[in-house]
Amino acid sequence: MDSDLEMYRDSVRRFVQTEIAAHDEKWAKQQHVDRNLWNKAGELGILLADVPDEFGGSGGNFAHMAILFEELAYAGDRAFGAHVHAIAAHYILNQGTDAQKAKYLPLLASGEMIGAIAMSEPGAGSDLQGIRTRAVRDGDDYVISGSKIFISNGYLADLIVVVTKTDPEAGAKGISLIMVETKEAKGFKVGRILEKLGQKGQDTCELFFDEVRVPVENLLGGVEGKGFAHLMSELPYERLMLGIGAMASIERAIDLTVTYTKERKAFGKPLLEMQNTRFKLADAKAQAVMARAFVDECIQRMIDDELDTVTASIVKLNLSELECTIIDECLQFFGGYGYMLEYPITQMYADARVQRIYGGASEIMKEIIARSL
Ligand SMILES: Cc1cc2nc3c(=O)[nH]c(=O)nc-3n(C[C@H](O)[C@H](O)[C@H](O)COP(=O)(O)OP(=O)(O)OC[C@H]3O[C@@H](n4cnc5c(N)ncnc54)[C@H](O)[C@@H]3O)c2cc1C
Repeated sequence: MDSDLEMYRDSVRRFVQTEIAAHDEKWAKQQHVDRNLWNKAGELGILLADVPDEFGGSGGNFAHMAILFEELAYAGDRAFGAHVHAIAAHYILNQGTDAQKAKYLPLLASGEMIGAIAMSEPGAGSDLQGIRTRAVRDGDDYVISGSKIFISNGYLADLIVVVTKTDPEAGAKGISLIMVETKEAKGFKVGRILEKLGQKGQDTCELFFDEVRVPVENLLGGVEGKGFAHLMSELPYERLMLGIGAMASIERAIDLTVTYTKERKAFGKPLLEMQNTRFKLADAKAQAVMARAFVDECIQRMIDDELDTVTASIVKLNLSELECTIIDECLQFFGGYGYMLEYPITQMYADARVQRIYGGASEIMKEIIARSL
């Protein structure tokens, strides 16, 4: 952090409070944010803060993105899919052709287009080689058929990076990423917005592709069969983001619990004066402080373009597991109130659970780490 970043944090925090946190309940009911949130966030320059100005981004670095993910978590946001939007944009930035970058990045930076990334299918999530969505070359088009599930931003997305098979016989080398502009796409259908345990305001959807024609120019990077390699090189960005959100949620949970246990009395004294409360929260704080040092180290490595796959898996595994453990411990101190949805800790408990599943389940993170032993 430096003084410029602190100022940036202040403006992001104000934006998150007034434009996001204030609408949480409405968005949870309608299961998606209002469309114009994206335009407002684009105007402020926070959507693609780490994308160079020449592509419409704000020319900052990953520290700016880290601030956004932290502020969203500190405010208890569970609706705004800025994460997947940035991930989709980074596929284009790092793997796209010059023409693809010039065409899409400015629109994603301004919020005129909302991005999503569609990997998971009803029959394959962890094992992406098992996907069945096909893209068949026909003249100057690809014809895409298949279905996707659990796609964040799925309801509102204008541009979806779709993981397809261009050569089903070629295993990992037969996978290609193709960008689909949803508004013009005949045969593209958004299914249900799925009812989730938490993150209620986030539009997580099923998507259907019935012979959707996409120009060959939309093949990411312009070369078939590179999709798996693209996924492998971009996943660290996603996994660090999830780790940062988890870190900020841990810090928030401890803050909320300290405040509550100072005020709430039982047996004539505040809960925080009981040894069990003090020790549990001391333990949580000790773990959080250690974790913070590692998260900050990973942020710096990402800024320096040095975050490797194994370290990104370690931060995702440890932080998502720690988030669930600490929030659960904290919730206990709220007693019955900790089971009431109007209490932020309760919401956090529900929102956190998916962190151990999406972006690669904890078991997959362990597999990746184990391969490095
Ligand atoms: C709210 C939400 C948002 C999501 N957003 C997106 C999105 O935007 N885009 C997208 O593409 N996907 C998205 N997903 C999907 C998510 O990435 C997958 O759910 C996840 O990767 C797990 O895949 P799966 O559900 O098919 O589970 P499976 O692959 O069936 O795995 C189930 C469980 O089996 C175990 N397991 C699997 N493989 C192994 C192994 N090798 N060793 C040991 N244990 C194993 C793990 O415990 C795992 O949790 C989202 C999911 C949710 C819930």
